[in-house]
Amino acid sequence: MGGKKPRQTRHKSRSSRAEAANGKWYRAGLRFECTQCGKCCTGEPGYVWVETQEAEKIAEFLDISLNEFHVRYTRNVSGRISLIELQNGNCVFYDPNTCRCRVYPVRPTQCVTFPFWDSNLQSPEAWAETASRCPGCNLGPVHSFTTIEKLRKRRSV
Ligand code: SF4
Ligand code: SF4
Repeated sequence: MGGKKPRQTRHKSRSSRAEAANGKWYRAGLRFECTQCGKCCTGEPGYVWVETQEAEKIAEFLDISLNEFHVRYTRNVSGRISLIELQNGNCVFYDPNTCRCRVYPVRPTQCVTFPFWDSNLQSPEAWAETASRCPGCNLGPVHSFTTIEKLRKRRSV
């Protein structure tokens, strides 16, 4: 799908944007700059959910069939597809030699939108807790309220 929104919501007036921002504790924006520490791709057990279109993009990027991608890199978790996690907790696509993601240009939305997830933006406390795990939070340039909201709305995590 093209993802077009209805015309009336595409260009919000300045006042309606301000109203939306007023209700949020992060209306002035938040600082974030990834230090590439790799913490969010390693460590404690977790899930990296992959939607069908994302799976297709990654398979194409790796030049393998969709079936091979699923067999080699994913697992079924109660009907949802997640990337495999290695025994040491690393995401299957995390390269410990370079500390980089091997599918970075096509990584799942969940990875693209971190740390601006619904759950991390619930409250200043939730953000502080996220920052205790992610050294990139509260660092670097300010991301505007609009940018944060765009990312937050891409996926509810
Ligand atoms: S934990 Fe934060 S700073 Fe570290 S790699 Fe992940 S996003 Fe970047
Ligand atoms: S897909 Fe890439 S960015 Fe996402 S958790 Fe795995 S290694 Fe990290």
